[in-house]
Amino acid sequence: MNDCLFCKIISGEIPSKFVYEDDLMVAFNDINPQAPIHLLFVPKKHIESLDTADENDFEILKKMLKSIKKYAQNEGFSEDGYRIVINVNKMGGQEVYHIHFHLVAGRQMQWPPG
Ligand code: 5GP
Ligand code: ZN
Repeated sequence: MNDCLFCKIISGEIPSKFVYEDDLMVAFNDINPQAPIHLLFVPKKHIESLDTADENDFEILKKMLKSIKKYAQNEGFSEDGYRIVINVNKMGGQEVYHIHFHLVAGRQMQWPPG
């Protein structure tokens, strides 16, 4: 996926600082943070969106969620709370078509979203 922004970040073609990395994913700060903590957890495999994810992709996403849960506990903000978001396609607000979990924390989240 030569033209994918997140694939370029993962490969190092676009230099970025990873706050977390394991065999399945990387995490880095969102360039336009919506909260004091705003991370993007991105699988190393190019999966376009939740809408196109197949059974194998869901195995990856399941493992990612478990690791994100542990990350939040280790970093000490799980007790206060945080939000995980996946934007899906146009009306969902998806801009980058390489699936990612937003993790936002550090302030009171509102519901419903805008
Ligand atoms: P989406 O709207 O697809 O769910 O989220 C894409 C996110 O990627 C946005 O929150 C946007 O701020 C972030 N983003 C876009 N370009 C870059 C970039 O070059 N570097 C980083 N770190 N984040 C980016
Ligand atoms: Zn990609």
